[in-house]
Amino acid sequence: MGLKVFLNGKLVDKEEAKISIFDHGLLYGDGVFEGIRVYNKCIFRFQQHIDRLFASAKYIMLNIPMTKDELIQATIDTCRANNIQDGYIRMVVTRGEGTLGLAPWLCPEPTVFIIAANIQLYPEEYYKNGLSVITVPTTRNFPEAVNPRIKSLNYLNNILAKIEAHNAGVLEALMLNKDGYVVECTGDNLFLVKDGTLITPPVYLGALRGITRDCIIEIAQKLGYPVIEQPFTRFEVFNADECFLTGTAAEAIPVVKVDNRVIGDGKPGPITRRLIEEFRKITTVDGIKFD
Ligand code: PMP
Repeated sequence: MGLKVFLNGKLVDKEEAKISIFDHGLLYGDGVFEGIRVYNKCIFRFQQHIDRLFASAKYIMLNIPMTKDELIQATIDTCRANNIQDGYIRMVVTRGEGTLGLAPWLCPEPTVFIIAANIQLYPEEYYKNGLSVITVPTTRNFPEAVNPRIKSLNYLNNILAKIEAHNAGVLEALMLNKDGYVVECTGDNLFLVKDGTLITPPVYLGALRGITRDCIIEIAQKLGYPVIEQPFTRFEVFNADECFLTGTAAEAIPVVKVDNRVIGDGKPGPITRRLIEEFRKITTVDGIKFD
């Protein structure tokens, strides 16, 4: 059975799920999206993802032509149609079909599609042994320009950084803002552990407010680890006891080398490992379930 995709109100075969070459999502990256995990038929933190999608859309003045409840139902229908038990959902809303000009007001109907499929994960060895990342020259977008808090279809900033990391032979890039503060990676937020305290960059520096980031903060606080959001530079990264990344695809993954400097003792740290373990416990219950 082939993949079924939700497109503008209907479930259609993947081969029929076509959008116009005049769609402004394609012509200009004018649109918003979410990436969401399904764990044992539980759509993880789904309400938070839906809320972030609507917040991103509001910022770019894009009216999503469905209610939150309708989108939730359409997503569940898409998961059911594809027998998804564990997987990844991509939900996209574009400005829709328009003219060759920028004018979004000439795009009468936004395009909405939902794909529920499998996911390419980091191999398990990276969770055991940790990742190596490097700082790249491409900085994070300024919040005053395309605010990185919008999960927009314009990911070129992150893609350039990802290419720079790839060219250097590592899987992720550490991105700074124009002032040299550490902000996040191309698709993940970043945490340090120092003397038992978690430190993560405030989102106003130019980061996406990750749903996994929020979840890890809550878990850490419940376990009694203080969490502070404060700006820091690579100095604090190099001198951290532990470092890890968080994101929907990565969950929480240890980082053991940054710019070829060993972090801590070069192995995933005890607090990182504890948080990963606790995070994995709640994935099948913390969300919207379907059968
Ligand atoms: N930062 C960026 C730039 C991202 O694209 C993402 C999502 N992949 C994240 C952080 C992590 O956010 P979340 O935990 O909501 O997936």
